Amino acid sequence: MDTESFRRLLQSLLREPPKRDEPMRNHTTLRVGGPADLFINVHTVEELATALRAAREHEVPVTILGQGSNLIVRDGGIRGLVIHLCGEMTRIEFDTTEVRVGAGVYLPYLLKKTALRGLSGLECCAGVPGTVGGALISNAGTVDQFIGDRVDRVTVLTRDGERWTLDRSQLQFGYRWSSLQNFPGVITEVWLRLEVADPPRILQTIRDRLRYRTATQPVHIPCAGCIFKNPPGLRAGALIEQCGLKGYRIGDAEVSPQHANFIVNRGSATAKDVLELSELMRQRVHQSFGVHLEYEVQIIGEPDEGIVREGLPVI
Ligand SMILES: Cc1cc2nc3c(=O)[nH]c(=O)nc-3n(C[C@H](O)[C@H](O)[C@H](O)COP(=O)(O)OP(=O)(O)OC[C@H]3O[C@@H](n4cnc5c(N)ncnc54)[C@H](O)[C@@H]3O)c2cc1C
Repeated sequence: MDTESFRRLLQSLLREPPKRDEPMRNHTTLRVGGPADLFINVHTVEELATALRAAREHEVPVTILGQGSNLIVRDGGIRGLVIHLCGEMTRIEFDTTEVRVGAGVYLPYLLKKTALRGLSGLECCAGVPGTVGGALISNAGTVDQFIGDRVDRVTVLTRDGERWTLDRSQLQFGYRWSSLQNFPGVITEVWLRLEVADPPRILQTIRDRLRYRTATQPVHIPCAGCIFKNPPGLRAGALIEQCGLKGYRIGDAEVSPQHANFIVNRGSATAKDVLELSELMRQRVHQSFGVHLEYEVQIIGEPDEGIVREGLPVI
């Protein structure tokens, strides 16, 4: 089925009309990325299941988008359907220390809500600007505390629109990794187990962490967080800085002078600029220290020409 016919089909099935050729730079925190063939907001789990089934039936590839804060979308854009969760999947329900959270909930909002309720356990995610679904995929957090520590169970929809609940024993979490990355479906909600604590104390911890971030990271400039994972026992940022790359630019993509593991977009950087720069950072670190940096950001979309990107994670 061609894109226009599939768009019309989705339009007949969903409450919000699909958008065509939606620029992904409008949906990523780094502000790069070419157009998605089709982009939809789904408001209920049922709508999500309907869209997934239709895509499956007509062999249209699907990409799930959170806040786009851990993504580099290539300049060629995304073929097929991009789905963004909203409505029903942005709800939060409290049951004593257990919290049921929709995958589309914005993490900073969840942190505020849980802190005001006197529930502690998510402070490690202070300043992580993604959704709960995106946070579960990469097990967001610090180097030693993660959202995964708090997960009790997760509900996912398969590509056939079937609903599964995975409990703790079926899930694994590691540093910037979770077994959910291997699950061919969409996270719709999660149950988190938190601990009772004093709200002012939790809020103070969050404020302290945010202050530290503002002092050490380019949080107010378009970026995608850390580009590379920290190699065991090392700091990727320190290795890149020792290569003298802070402030180095390709086009409008710049190695942040504040934190060398961040690439910032100084205005009109393209994904090509960003990826050429990240490859350069990787090569220099390898030449200088023999250390192979692994990408923390996910790189998706149509490949552009001329850049060798061996071994990059693609969803
Ligand atoms: C300034 C800044 C600071 C950051 N600091 C940190 C930090 O300290 N620690 C940290 O861990 N990260 C950090 N990040 C990275 C990023 O915020 C996290 O990885 C975040 O959890 C990504 O969530 P997202 O909703 O933006 O996901 P996206 O970037 O939209 O998507 C990431 C991946 O998750 C998948 N995905 C999203 N939602 C779902 C779903 N419902 N079901 C299935 N798959 C889904 C997407 O398909 C994609 O593969 C930072 C980013 C920025 C910009």
